[in-house]
Amino acid sequence: MTAAGGMMRTHRWRRVVSAWMLALGVIGFAPVPAQGQAQSLRVEPPSWWVGMHQPRLELLVHAPGLAGWQVELTPYPGVQLLGSRAGDSPNYRFVTLVIGAQARAGWLELRFTHDAQVRTHRYELAARRPGSAQRRGFDSSDVILNLVPDRFANGDPTNDDHPGYGDPANRADIQAGRHGGDLAGIAEHLEYFVGMGYTMLWPTPLMENRQSRYSYHGYAVTDLYRVDPRMGSNAQYRELVARARGRGIGVIQDVVLNHVGSGHPWTADPPMRDWYTQGGRFVPTRHARTAVADPYAAASDRENFTQGWFEPNMPDLNQRNPHLATYLVQNAIWWVEFADLSGLRVDTYGYSDTAFLSRWSQALMAEYPALNLVGEEWSGNPVVVAQWQRRQSPQLAVPGGGSQLPSLMDFPLHYVLRRALASDDSWNGGLTELYEALINDRLYPDPSSMVLFEGNHDVPRLYSALGEDLALTKMALAYVLTMRGIPQLYYGTEVLMTSPRQRDDGATRQDFPGGWAGDAVNARTGEGLSAAQRDMQAFLRRLMNWRRTQSVVHRGRLVHYAPEGGIYAYFRHEGDRQVMVVFNKNRGDASVDTRRYAERLRAGASGVDVISGERLTLWPALAMPARSVRVIEVD
Ligand code: CA
Repeated sequence: MTAAGGMMRTHRWRRVVSAWMLALGVIGFAPVPAQGQAQSLRVEPPSWWVGMHQPRLELLVHAPGLAGWQVELTPYPGVQLLGSRAGDSPNYRFVTLVIGAQARAGWLELRFTHDAQVRTHRYELAARRPGSAQRRGFDSSDVILNLVPDRFANGDPTNDDHPGYGDPANRADIQAGRHGGDLAGIAEHLEYFVGMGYTMLWPTPLMENRQSRYSYHGYAVTDLYRVDPRMGSNAQYRELVARARGRGIGVIQDVVLNHVGSGHPWTADPPMRDWYTQGGRFVPTRHARTAVADPYAAASDRENFTQGWFEPNMPDLNQRNPHLATYLVQNAIWWVEFADLSGLRVDTYGYSDTAFLSRWSQALMAEYPALNLVGEEWSGNPVVVAQWQRRQSPQLAVPGGGSQLPSLMDFPLHYVLRRALASDDSWNGGLTELYEALINDRLYPDPSSMVLFEGNHDVPRLYSALGEDLALTKMALAYVLTMRGIPQLYYGTEVLMTSPRQRDDGATRQDFPGGWAGDAVNARTGEGLSAAQRDMQAFLRRLMNWRRTQSVVHRGRLVHYAPEGGIYAYFRHEGDRQVMVVFNKNRGDASVDTRRYAERLRAGASGVDVISGERLTLWPALAMPARSVRVIEVD
């Protein structure tokens, strides 16, 4: 959220050519010489696939005056032209195809005619990658890294500005300027990610943001089928995902269903009159997110929440228009298939039309039953977050909804974790609040799919929120990496990047050290890092690499004990494997009487501290240094 054999060879060659055409923005249009037809035909989605679960495909076709044209399909086995209709704008037509199960990959020929004029458009139906429909999404065996591409690393300084695009690069402008980070910069860090132990990347949106200013964040999309040229190209994106996959790292794409950027061509020429909410005029949302399901909410508040706008420069999409709804469903599927994604992160989830969200999530999960989708519902209230998870009880699901998200961002536990560590321990504060928060898991159909994050691009950095206290920061990270759910970290946490303690987007998205030529400090090579930074990097590298193979942490059952005297302990266990995690928030060393943990620990138990490698006696007492956390593999 932001206030952003021969057949095989032929297919490969076609893919390369089509990626190249996409990169150039040609989108497969074969021009037909005719008077007054200089403008190109734009077809979205720009290509599709055979063998999809949903056989119906609706193309949005744009060209000046196109609404008045007729469309025909040159006969193609297994493919039918179901019909077409004009948009409200004279420049759009919706064309519906049915791609039968028997259709083979190849090129369709669509003929647009008007009086004596004919325009032919070749449209690619590609073959899917083997196993595409069964692709596995991210899960609790992963560690997700969230990064802001513009602020992460500038791998290609020649693309910092693009001809005809506004918002010139200005690294001195921390609040709103583009800094030049790009896909090439992410690619340069792949080995670094592998070495640290991250297994999934979630970059904030990469799509074109052709806005006159404040476009670096990516959440004001102006072309939903094009990577911003200042980030790279569609072909480069696909190549990056393939390279990452080859190194055991998946990519989660950030999707914005709620709004686009005001620089989108739809703003001047919407395909239909009701494409945007509020008649295309800015009416702010009051962010009354509870109103969707609050039994006492005024209908006007409920309507305002989903129909109000974020900002004047982010027109709110009206997903109640069935053509726009279809467009958004197909757009998400297109990127999963084109780029070979491991999941989607959905921005500002609840702000879109409630019935549409059910349709969108159902369509994605029908196409990819093992994919993961994680929604952003920015609320500390677990009832509000839980209502969107799939298989929710009728009592807690959004009214009339059937949202099918496997995962939600765990904002409630995120907030409690920071508060619990930053505050003093008492009968109801500190670690006790963290302990008690887990009863909220009764509200989630699948707590193990909640994405538990230490930070992201929208919240103050963890190290700063904890008063730049290294010990507390380690406790928070150990918790995120051993608690139930899917852990997610924010770039730079490993080198203790800081921000103001109050929300400050620009300052929370500072450049990653070493991402720019001439940086004095380089997190990737270790050059110029302080002792504390190196310590934190080593701590995370050790813990995340250990976690990679620990099924007991991915899927093991959780048992925790009520905190006592500033000590909190929990166990993860699976079969004969067990991991014990103990926190000591006290300013002095502690000898923890472990006989209280007899349900999980046998007399004479011993183990190994995963971080220090120390062999430890666990029974009848465990030595815990002041302000420390231990992650222990129990023998
Ligand atoms: Ca660049």
